Amino acid sequence: MSNSWSNWSGFVTASPKLIASPADAGELGDLVRTAPGPVRVVGAGHSFTPLVKSEGTIVSLEKLEGLVSHDSANNRARVRAGTRLGALMHILQGIGQGLPNMGDIDRQAIGGALGTATHGSGPTLGAYHTQLETVQIVDGLGKIREFKRSSDQDMIHATGVALGAFGVLSEVTMNNIATYRLRRRKWVLPIADMLRDFETMMTAHRSAEFYYIPFSGYAQFIASDLSEAATTTRPTEDDEGSLRTLRRLRTGLAWLPSLRRALITGAVKKVPAEDYVQDWLNVYASDRQTRFNEMEYHLPFEDGPKALAEIIDLTEKRFPEVYFPMEVRSVAPDRFWLSPFYERPTCSIAIHHDAANDPLPFMRAAEPIFRKYGGRPHWGKMHSLKADDLKKLYPRWDDAMAVRRDIDPHNRFISPYMAGLFGIQS
Ligand SMILES: Cc1cc2nc3c(=O)[nH]c(=O)nc-3n(C[C@H](O)[C@H](O)[C@H](O)COP(=O)(O)OP(=O)(O)OC[C@H]3O[C@@H](n4cnc5c(N)ncnc54)[C@H](O)[C@@H]3O)c2cc1C
Repeated sequence: MSNSWSNWSGFVTASPKLIASPADAGELGDLVRTAPGPVRVVGAGHSFTPLVKSEGTIVSLEKLEGLVSHDSANNRARVRAGTRLGALMHILQGIGQGLPNMGDIDRQAIGGALGTATHGSGPTLGAYHTQLETVQIVDGLGKIREFKRSSDQDMIHATGVALGAFGVLSEVTMNNIATYRLRRRKWVLPIADMLRDFETMMTAHRSAEFYYIPFSGYAQFIASDLSEAATTTRPTEDDEGSLRTLRRLRTGLAWLPSLRRALITGAVKKVPAEDYVQDWLNVYASDRQTRFNEMEYHLPFEDGPKALAEIIDLTEKRFPEVYFPMEVRSVAPDRFWLSPFYERPTCSIAIHHDAANDPLPFMRAAEPIFRKYGGRPHWGKMHSLKADDLKKLYPRWDDAMAVRRDIDPHNRFISPYMAGLFGIQS
């Protein structure tokens, strides 16, 4: 009987010989040593690229989850790498700790989020991997190895963002912060104003991001700042309802683009502003039900507005089928060798395409714009780059590859897709 696996969007499928869920690091080590290769680890399968695809073995860490220990004095928590972010939030809240920042959803496993440099938004806030204090991995020989920031900083920087190819993370210790509250505000403004005031608006808040609604000329800006005020009700979100409306207008008015634009603009201008205060774990994540495929590139911060203007122009001139809002965020620089934020203040621009349709023509047309600005692709989102392109974008590429060879001398974690990314002859 063959096994089948697919990612969240359904774009990537695999028929591995084995799908396994080890119960502890010892069993995980045995699998890495003996299971049919290549051995690829899956978190929640929310990446859009074939990172997890394997015709050998896919290893899920769903049984390796939960809190191992914590240190209240330093706001540190050690957790098993299969822990989903949604569970992690509640574990941390229960011990008086909080994640400093989060992305749009809480479905990912922490190992998977670390693996692709998953991030939220905020000019001084790093992606999840910047919180790493220790990592425990099972290497390509099935041996458990542990690295600490205090004594093995290079190994933390090499293995913190590693695409499941530098060993399997079994446990990680994260540096968190004390629980906190955020005041979150949302409002709509013309995209021309947003692009003009980009730097001021994106740096005036602890966290700021915005969505551009295609064919509307308007953006929705979201700002979050620390607050000690009493909590208020978070307005009920209707992102799914808004998407349905945008899709209906796209489909129903395909031959009347000016009416489509007028109706979308009218609807967006009427979206009410929001202003509420909530505990950190009730603010960041949203529900995403409508399936899509996504490309996100991380650009030098200052190039964000120019690149976005070109992406909007491309979309509105040539891709009338697009209706998902584009998401624009900022991320603080870090020192992790395969982090797309390596030593660069970043503006991240994400474009989305309905999972029911072929995303590739749109993605292929947009990618040269991102690349022109020296963009580094999100590891978990669609891109076409291979080792020769990537090497030029990552100053510590060769060092990272040397560490990878040491951790995985027999290429147990190297699938054909990974071989292309890393330039390994398979
Ligand atoms: C609806 C949606 C919303 C999203 N929002 C955001 C967002 O706001 N910000 C953002 O940056 N990204 C976002 N993403 C992308 C997503 O966060 C990343 O693709 C992330 O890697 C997915 O986590 P996962 O647990 O599903 O990992 P998977 O996709 O299963 O795996 C990702 C990579 O991590 C590796 N991996 C998994 N577990 C381990 C482990 N224990 N040890 C070593 N390697 C491991 C895998 O081998 C693979 O290479 C979103 C994706 C979707 C579908």
